[in-house]
Amino acid sequence: MKRDERIERHRMVEHQIRDRGVSDERVLTAMEAVPRHLFVPPDLQNVAYGDHPLPIGEGQTISQPYIVAVMTELLAIGPGDRVLEIGTGSGYGAAVLARLADEVWSIERIPAVAAQARENLRAAGVENVHVVVANGTLGLPDRAPFDGIIVTAATPSVPDPLFEQLADGGRLVAPVGGRDLQYLMRYTRHGTDIKQESWGGVVFVPLIGEYGWED
Ligand code: SAH
Repeated sequence: MKRDERIERHRMVEHQIRDRGVSDERVLTAMEAVPRHLFVPPDLQNVAYGDHPLPIGEGQTISQPYIVAVMTELLAIGPGDRVLEIGTGSGYGAAVLARLADEVWSIERIPAVAAQARENLRAAGVENVHVVVANGTLGLPDRAPFDGIIVTAATPSVPDPLFEQLADGGRLVAPVGGRDLQYLMRYTRHGTDIKQESWGGVVFVPLIGEYGWED
């Protein structure tokens, strides 16, 4: 019997995400719509809806569904918004963001990972994500400001250029801390003031480069 991805996705949303407290219906609907199995390597498609991150090659991972949902909820984006993601990885997170915002710019430093992400996004029919190969710690000054900026790799501190590219009222979500454990932080810009909130502990692969760690 063929697996029914829609049923698996519905279970994922109900048991891994809603039951744990993510309540933004728009986020839940987006997670229910994006075909996560198209963003993992073919031999892992049968476990694509499990409650864990998965390897995607080049030492990188696709994040656990619950963490994608939490970060997306914290980012609080909506129609008309422009979003910047640092760390495209599989492209899955970008695909979820793309259902909520107008336009998503996503930066990936490893060309082969970016190429696969573009292919995954095409296969999933996502058209409003632009994948850029670059060092994401510098952001995308030419496209700034952004209403939401999401960093999906661990960083010891938020790179200054990213704060500079955040719109007034914009939110920046990032795992900040050491190499082995980080705190998921949300920063909200009000003029020159930045409000800071901590969600809790998380573990991400490292952000490489200036402001991050050495390769
Ligand atoms: N959001 C992804 C998961 C990201 S994994 C998903 O939904 O699948 C983190 C990614 O960040 C990896 O692909 C890694 O290569 C990338 N990365 C690390 N440092 C980076 C940098 N300085 N600039 C851009 N991408 C970076």
